[in-house]
Amino acid sequence: MRCGTGRTWGRSRPRSRRGAGGSPDIPGCAPPAPCQGGRTFCRPCRFFVRQQREGVVTLGTMRLAPLLLLPQLPVWILLAVAGVQLSAAVDARTQATAEAAHSREQLSRMEAALRLTLDLETGVRGYVITGQSAFLTPYREATAVLPGVLATLREGTAAQPTPDRPAQLARLSRIETLLERWQARVGRPEIAVRGRSAQEAAALVARGTGKRLIDAVRAEAAAFTRTEGTRLREQEAAALARLQDLRRTLLEYGTAVIALSVLSGLLASALISRSYRRVSLAAERLARGEGGVRLSDRGPQEVRSLSAAFNRMSEQLGAAQQEAQGRAADLAAQNARMGALGDLSDWLQAARGLEEGGQILARALPTLLPGTRGSLATHNASRNLLVPLLTWGEEVASGGAPDGCWALRRGETRWPQDSGFAPACLAGPGGGGYVCVPLFSHGETLGILRVRPEADGHPLPADLRETLPAVARQVALALAGLRLQERLHQQAIRDPLTGLFNRRHLEDALASAGAHAAATDEPLSLIALDVDHFKRFNDTFGHEAGDAVLVRVGAALRDLAPPSAVPARPGGEEFTLLLPGLDTGAAAALAERLRETVAGWSLSHAGMALGQVTVSLGVASLRVHAPAPEGLPRAADEALYAAKAGGRNRVMVARGLEVSPLGVFAH
Ligand code: GH3
Ligand code: MG
Ligand code: MG
Repeated sequence: MRCGTGRTWGRSRPRSRRGAGGSPDIPGCAPPAPCQGGRTFCRPCRFFVRQQREGVVTLGTMRLAPLLLLPQLPVWILLAVAGVQLSAAVDARTQATAEAAHSREQLSRMEAALRLTLDLETGVRGYVITGQSAFLTPYREATAVLPGVLATLREGTAAQPTPDRPAQLARLSRIETLLERWQARVGRPEIAVRGRSAQEAAALVARGTGKRLIDAVRAEAAAFTRTEGTRLREQEAAALARLQDLRRTLLEYGTAVIALSVLSGLLASALISRSYRRVSLAAERLARGEGGVRLSDRGPQEVRSLSAAFNRMSEQLGAAQQEAQGRAADLAAQNARMGALGDLSDWLQAARGLEEGGQILARALPTLLPGTRGSLATHNASRNLLVPLLTWGEEVASGGAPDGCWALRRGETRWPQDSGFAPACLAGPGGGGYVCVPLFSHGETLGILRVRPEADGHPLPADLRETLPAVARQVALALAGLRLQERLHQQAIRDPLTGLFNRRHLEDALASAGAHAAATDEPLSLIALDVDHFKRFNDTFGHEAGDAVLVRVGAALRDLAPPSAVPARPGGEEFTLLLPGLDTGAAAALAERLRETVAGWSLSHAGMALGQVTVSLGVASLRVHAPAPEGLPRAADEALYAAKAGGRNRVMVARGLEVSPLGVFAH
């Protein structure tokens, strides 16, 4: 019915709508879309839908046991009917047989009665003819037995509820009457008369009374026998007919029963096999890895239970598959990150110093922490400043005082969500959403790693929150390694007192600068500096004061030298300034500036005036004063000795390869 209208859609809608809204049970018929009243457009399905709604269990929704047994019900009914019919037929046959036996018995009794009647007649006739009493023996025996035989016949006839019973009983009565009459009128009188006279007896016989009576008895007996015989034949014919009926019935019922049984079996097996085929097809799809496989709630109850269990299994399997895929993806991502971390470690080991390390990290961190931006700042040498080392993801570099960073102050990672009591970070870039990871290694604070999601307002993905500590550890280790490497390197190439390069580095720098100058034809000069009368200075003011002077001279060298210069303290109170790109004139001018600067100092140490300190300097240039870089220090030293010899506190240029203009800048 249409919802609330009392009209069926099936009747009012065109037949072509069947396929549009139909039943899942009908091929080509999509599942019905019930309207508010629970009716559908699909006429073929309406019966099914209505029956289900009204609580009538259809074949398709029954349990398997009744589904299999119910179709056999007509078979059992037919068998029961056939059994009843067979029983009735057997009963009828038994009754007919009993009645036939009884009839045969009656017939044989009647035969016996006729024989005895004959004995009566022949016994009397023999005696009448011969007069011998021996002929009366059968007469007397028959006279004694015949009444009993006739009584038995009457009882047998009376016991038979047949339609001809009264007529038969009447015949028997007439036979008895005739025989009594024969005894009274023929038998006994003829025997009595014969005892007196044979002629009288013959005359009696000649009257023919005996013959008439016996003939009448025979006629009645024949009628009795005929009637019994007819009934016997009728009974046997009826029994035979019932047997034939039974055989026909059994044949018809049997055929129907077998056909019905086969049909119901086929129907039930088709229903069950269709249901199980659906289940097995779905299971195959599931086994192929297809997701979202579901079975409709159709078929016998057991199959529906199986479908429900299958659907639950399918859902759980789908969820497990998704979880496994998610885990596999997580693992793959984690593996990729671990691989990237390994690569980073390899690259960082190959780095020479923090600067290179910073460049490597700047390329690695966007890969290791995808979808983020951030910065890395490290402590400066004096540990009072955070110096930006790198940024990624268009992040603004941030430094500042380390004390203003809450993560560094507390010594633990600061997550945006657990910054409840924390005031705004003083050293940070400002704004929330940063994860600040302090970087430690071997108890030393190295710097701070600040990370936030690329898009503001989003939390850091969970997997990155798990990865971040490992990345931070790796970065901290790398920073510590690079710092140590740098420290060792500096220790290897620097003079600990003045911080200038030592002799070893000077030699390396001279070799590389010499090679460069040779290759480019650019000038290369070298200044050799020696503190005048330093021994005396030491002796006068002490070794510490001497050290302070050396530190001060080293600082002057560093301050006045151009950026490309290599200031060094090869040993003692001697200093060297390698000057790539400076020719003899520029180098001599710089030497003079140094001399002037030092000579202008008024030094004091420990509250004690140290007096004037002077230095002597020698200048030499490649190709001008020495043909090869190795000869440059010796040429400068020679100029220095010349300056010493010339009275100290002066600059001397080395002797030229062709001329010897020593004392150009003699003071
Ligand atoms: P000159 O003007 O000829 O160079 O005379 P000088 O005394 O400077 O030269 P000399 O070579 O005779 O003496 C060098 C002195 O430098 C000897 C040594 O005690 C001192 N000296 C070398 N290294 C150091 C150092 O590291 N610290 C201090 N305080 N003195 C040093
Ligand atoms: Mg010296
Ligand atoms: Mg000296």
